Amino acid sequence: MISHDRLYIGGELVEPAGTGTIEVINPFTEEVAGRVPEGTNADIDLAVSAARTAFDTTDWSTRTVAERAEILGRASALIQGRMDELTQLISTEMGSPSGWGMFGQVLAPSMVLDMYAGLGATYEVEETRPGMFGPVVVRKEPMGVVGAIIPWNVPLFEAVMKVAPAVVAGCTVVLKPSPETALDPYVFAEIMEEAGLPKGVLSIVPGGREIGEYLVTHPLVDKITFTGSTAAGMKIGAACGALLRPVTLELGGKSAAIVLDSADVATVVPQLLDAGIMNNGQACVAQTRILASRSNYDAVLDAVTEAVAALVVGDPLDPTTQVGPVVAERQRERILGLLDAGRSEGARVTTGGGRTSHEKGWFIEPTVFGDVDNKMTIAQEEIFGPVLSVIPFDDVPDAIRIANDSQYGLSGSVWGSDVEEATQIAKQIRTGTINVNHFAMAFGAPFGGYKNSGLGRELGPEGVDAFMEKNALSLDPAAG
Ligand code: NAD
Repeated sequence: MISHDRLYIGGELVEPAGTGTIEVINPFTEEVAGRVPEGTNADIDLAVSAARTAFDTTDWSTRTVAERAEILGRASALIQGRMDELTQLISTEMGSPSGWGMFGQVLAPSMVLDMYAGLGATYEVEETRPGMFGPVVVRKEPMGVVGAIIPWNVPLFEAVMKVAPAVVAGCTVVLKPSPETALDPYVFAEIMEEAGLPKGVLSIVPGGREIGEYLVTHPLVDKITFTGSTAAGMKIGAACGALLRPVTLELGGKSAAIVLDSADVATVVPQLLDAGIMNNGQACVAQTRILASRSNYDAVLDAVTEAVAALVVGDPLDPTTQVGPVVAERQRERILGLLDAGRSEGARVTTGGGRTSHEKGWFIEPTVFGDVDNKMTIAQEEIFGPVLSVIPFDDVPDAIRIANDSQYGLSGSVWGSDVEEATQIAKQIRTGTINVNHFAMAFGAPFGGYKNSGLGRELGPEGVDAFMEKNALSLDPAAG
């Protein structure tokens, strides 16, 4: 069992201020996988003060972008060097199947680090424009101390999504991971330190909602970046609004995969499963609504059902496992409640629909619902489990209408052999990202949500912009 008795604050492992402990439970064995100190408001104070000092009194914020970005390149290599260890650790914390986790939980963060490291060569912080009487220099300046709050579903990925752009920008960060995944951040801290991050630029205080709320409104914090549920994001956005504090929110999703009649169902279905059930369905970008025309509906539903029924469910550390347990018992109960809602509102379970026969582990059977109307709860609410809904459409305008009939707008996909048609349809879907005939995240492009899926963008140069103030310096007209 992994045990930490200190917190990583200001570049040191320090005694925690409180006496509480977080137990990280392995969702497959239901046993304690590790223990760490539970962060308190006093620990947040110490971490924010270290971040403030590093920002206000060291050369960190005035180093060049290239100097700071170089650290991220080294961190990426270090993550790759610890790939197996990190994959196992994260699967043990939250149940991600390690076959997927190797890519989604570990390689993907190192790719995001590489992308931000690459911006060291291209990201401009100054641009001269014509002003009223002479030149004006438009400068980007780091916002300052960042409070970063992340969920448990892709913990290392989310840590990198926050810390890497903040580092490029020249900010300092207090990271609050979820209690469910409080172990891997210790490895992340080691890696960032070994990569050359100066002391105080990153502190990590694991804990629950209360210290998250405390961090959001802390008087010495300049910017909040949050990934998590829409409900929490709305509260955080409101708290930041009251303080006029800049905030980036990456929230939930209920993305649609539109399968056009021209799509080759046999080729598309395996990709729909990857896009919909990755990480046991615990992905904000999961394509959980599959839209098929009425004439093609039975063929798509049958193929999806057959493929989902064949998924291998089991031990996340077994490389052949495709679906592991969900993160926590309360999450399993929540999902079971949504499955009941689906049945009672008239949807038809074509495979799965309940718990598996495992004696231990918070498993949900990979489930497909047919005859789903987009108004049903299962089509409107994010389930965050291995559950797909197949929804019929009348024609292409109806498919677009259904895809857009959602409080969310994070991701989506269009599948069809007429690429021009699929692309034109993709342009009519009101989401932050959309894919044609594949599913992937493009790390060099802005990522974020329309509507209740969030506010602001991460990744690409836009990801760094989110940590920058813009300043206009009008030069002495006589000097020009
Ligand atoms: P959650 O909102 O319950 O918790 C997320 C984090 O916020 C945790 O660290 C939690 O302790 C903290 N928190 C919760 N309420 C808070 C509050 N009022 N003030 C401050 N901090 C608070 O979400 P979760 O269940 O951990 O994660 C799953 C959710 O995250 C899903 O809705 C998923 O779609 C979303 N998510 C979004 C993205 C994205 O990029 N859009 C990526 C991954 C996950």
